[in-house]
Amino acid sequence: MSEKLAIVTIDGPAGVGKTTISRMIAAHLGFTCLDTGAMYRAFAWMLAHIGKTAEDLENDDSMLSMLGNLEMQLLPPLEGQENGRVLLGGKELGPELRTEEISCLASEIASLPAVRKMLTAVQQQMGRAGRVVIEGRDTGTVVFPQAAWKFYLDADPEERARRRVTQMRNRGEVGINEAALLQSLMARDEADRNRSIAPLKMAEDAYLIDTTDLSIKEVVGEMLVRIQIEPIE
Ligand code: C5P
Repeated sequence: MSEKLAIVTIDGPAGVGKTTISRMIAAHLGFTCLDTGAMYRAFAWMLAHIGKTAEDLENDDSMLSMLGNLEMQLLPPLEGQENGRVLLGGKELGPELRTEEISCLASEIASLPAVRKMLTAVQQQMGRAGRVVIEGRDTGTVVFPQAAWKFYLDADPEERARRRVTQMRNRGEVGINEAALLQSLMARDEADRNRSIAPLKMAEDAYLIDTTDLSIKEVVGEMLVRIQIEPIE
């Protein structure tokens, strides 16, 4: 059996609470966080910034090389913010990564094998020393199959959309179209589940938690119990 790494993977659909939960688990264990979705979002942002589409990226290798040559660094969230930031080619990206446009474009480019190959390699490089909580869609199946603790979080789409709305309201956003948000979240899940490469799915050895009726504290508690009863050497 291959050696287990001191890595916690958390996969699951959009809006299930992976980011908040990752940060809490990491703080408890003294690990760092690696938000792989933020990396797909950063590439998507840069693409949109230069006025290009996922199709352009797919058809032009030089564009992928350009993205790959930009230095990428993950930064912690600013005080009072939920999501971490990304430094890409010297440009610091925060809330601009979280728009609906970038969510959709990130999901589109995440289905391109060449993009996944590049970002998966960067993620493996960033996490290889261990003591990291890594979250995304394929972190337990593809990025770190040898992680010691793997979780798959799920929740009803309606509940996930409700949580997103609350989060957005707390950030002071107004005029949120809840029905459109639910549709977009479900469309993104569908695309992530059905793509041919590294689809969103639970690793066979992951621990499933349906968080629909659980508080964040309860989910984190259950995960920490699991991590403690499964110590690695
Ligand atoms: O997690 P987040 O919503 O920020 O991810 C944005 C998009 O990036 C997802 O909808 C998914 O298409 C893609 N993604 C992925 N694999 C990951 C993380 C994110 O395909 N490991």
